[in-house]
Amino acid sequence: MLSPHSHMKIRVMPKTTESIRNLCKSTLYLFLTFVSPFILYRCIRFLSMYSSSSTSAPKTDAEILRRKRIEKSKLYFDITTPKVPIIYSSYYDIRFFGIEKLHPFDSSKWDRIRGFLISEGHLDKNSIVEPFEASTDDLLVVHTEAYLNSLNNSVNVAMITEVPPLAILPNWLVRMKVLSPFRRQVGGTILAAKLAKEQGWAINVGGGFHHCSSGRGGGFCAYADISLCIHFAFFRFTISRVMIIDLDAHQGNGHEMDFAGDGRVYILDMYNPDIYPFDLTARNYIKQKVEVATGTTTDGYLKELDKALRVARDNFAPELIIYNAGTDILDGDPLGGLKISPDGVAQRDEKVFRFARERNIPLVMVTSGGYMKTSARVVADSIINLSRKRLIDLSPRYGRR
Ligand SMILES: [Zn+2]
Repeated sequence: MLSPHSHMKIRVMPKTTESIRNLCKSTLYLFLTFVSPFILYRCIRFLSMYSSSSTSAPKTDAEILRRKRIEKSKLYFDITTPKVPIIYSSYYDIRFFGIEKLHPFDSSKWDRIRGFLISEGHLDKNSIVEPFEASTDDLLVVHTEAYLNSLNNSVNVAMITEVPPLAILPNWLVRMKVLSPFRRQVGGTILAAKLAKEQGWAINVGGGFHHCSSGRGGGFCAYADISLCIHFAFFRFTISRVMIIDLDAHQGNGHEMDFAGDGRVYILDMYNPDIYPFDLTARNYIKQKVEVATGTTTDGYLKELDKALRVARDNFAPELIIYNAGTDILDGDPLGGLKISPDGVAQRDEKVFRFARERNIPLVMVTSGGYMKTSARVVADSIINLSRKRLIDLSPRYGRR
């Protein structure tokens, strides 16, 4: 039998169930009102993350491709006979039925540097290391396909090299006589990092095309040899700190654009701001900017350099130094605007080699700009001075087994 309390219970139960149901409903509404935007937000974030990871996927693919290209490259090869880490090839020189003489650049300076060192008994001709020519795959480690394709047009090559007559020549001839020598010099700069790692230093008697970046050439620079050299070194030596010391008279806007915002590369650029390329965007990416005005003479220049090297020493500890040693800082150079004596150039090079030697950092030197007939003599004298000061050894020991 049911007690009165039991009866009450029976009457109360439906009410309780209803109120629970109502509570559930309102909780669900509340949940949907407050939580669904959150879920929606999470969904959108997930989708946006997914889409951003899809857009970053090509970047990763590009990095994988870059590594594969470097692995496949023939530019790093082992030296098995006695050599000196001085790199040169007779293919460096641009001989074009005299057309090359229309450019103020002495396009046989590389051969003349080698000639002075050998004829005066400082270097054995068989001890020079001859590099391979950089292949299209090697160049794609840094360059875009679109840029390399643009070189199939002689007009573009004429603009980059600043030799207008090239514009009317068939492209195969331009490739053979102009681009191929440049590619050989690129092969030399890339190989120089390997030799410098093994031997402490290396000089490419060419290269230093510091106005060219991955997608743009200019100022006689068709390929970005410095950027290429650094990317090969990053991968082959698993290093992550490289210093570029750019002492050519012109600003090195090519490598500056290529390593814009890249903390692995420290750029010390000492240049005349009153001359080409006036690249204000690239100037933002110079870690240490030293501007030397038109008319600066040897003493003032070398004091600025001492100061700059002290600052660089305190700011960054590189595992490799790329030294862009243009000689267009020479007094009388028609483009550089500076008044540095030949002896001043030798002292400049000595300071940079000492900077590297004191801290045991491998150093790659490239010869870059230098537009007078006397430039070759000045570069050769500077190399002889480095040897006399025992900062480099020109006797062919390297590679002896
Ligand atoms: Zn220059």
